[in-house]
Amino acid sequence: VKAAVYTGVNQIEFQNRPRLKAGPGEVVIKIKYCGICGTDVDIYFEGILPPGIVLGHENVGTIAEVGEGVEGWEMGDRVFSGPPGPCGECYYCLHGHPSICVNGFEQTNGLRRDGGMAEYMLVKDPKYMLAKIPDHVPFEDAVLMDCIACAFHGIMQSDFRMGDNVVVSGAASIGLSVIQLLKIGGAAHITVLQPSPMKRKMALELGADVGFNPLEEGDQLRDKVMALYHGIGADIAFECAGTPESFQTCLGLVKSGGQVLNLGVSEAPTAVVTAALVMRELDIKSSLAYDYEDVRKCMNYLATGRFKAKGMLSDIIPLDDLVEKGFKRLMVDKNLIKVAVAP
Ligand SMILES: [Zn+2]
Ligand SMILES: [Zn+2]
Repeated sequence: VKAAVYTGVNQIEFQNRPRLKAGPGEVVIKIKYCGICGTDVDIYFEGILPPGIVLGHENVGTIAEVGEGVEGWEMGDRVFSGPPGPCGECYYCLHGHPSICVNGFEQTNGLRRDGGMAEYMLVKDPKYMLAKIPDHVPFEDAVLMDCIACAFHGIMQSDFRMGDNVVVSGAASIGLSVIQLLKIGGAAHITVLQPSPMKRKMALELGADVGFNPLEEGDQLRDKVMALYHGIGADIAFECAGTPESFQTCLGLVKSGGQVLNLGVSEAPTAVVTAALVMRELDIKSSLAYDYEDVRKCMNYLATGRFKAKGMLSDIIPLDDLVEKGFKRLMVDKNLIKVAVAP
């Protein structure tokens, strides 16, 4: 069976591998779709992970084999499988914070174990790594669960309250999910910052009240946002663009005593003047991944139609096109939201 193996920077090898077998306690999934994450793009172009694994941590499919002793799962079950892959034994796992497990993503398919950019994927720990997809939720929606649950986890970690004025910087799959969930959660007003007109339009359709292109607005952006929010700024800003510039913009747009919730990921350093943080009592908080309680709740939002995934899946491509129509295109086409492979 076919698998796309990451073998080094700018290298993907399509290998024919023996069909996976489910050992005791394990489950094999036949992959329907695997979403391409920004992290996968970074791995491919920058090699931020040791080579030798099948990428893909945004997986949906059906259970093809159930190992001995596995309870609660059957052949044919439609499932989502993504991070976190906690160890279940460390301090954080035992204290309700599996997303920051010290054994960091030990079981995570596509980051530590072979992932879903293949026809089949082995899940070692179904208890922590599987969620059922409700019957009427299509795979095309459920494949966005990784992004939706990341967004949900971020909001739950934040100081967000009903009635808050919020800035969301970045409207790709996570930013768009944040906007929809904030709307469900009762935000008073949402400002989205996004250079792509197409994504900005979509953000407005999904619940943002006003949109700006931060690159075009330049120095005027702060004045415009201040004018919207009583001259004091937003209660909270969600950084979802993953750039130092976006992070700095967010710091400048929240009120004193406000919070910047950092969901974006960047390896580039950014300067923070602690005096400026202290003088305004600013709070910076970060959020990583999610747990399966978050996934269960977000599946519910998809099932009830309160969260609309329609339009967020930009394209589905064959596994063979992973590099050309996946990684390379995602680097240049900033209108793409989520691209998934169909192995
Ligand atoms: Zn991801
Ligand atoms: Zn742990």
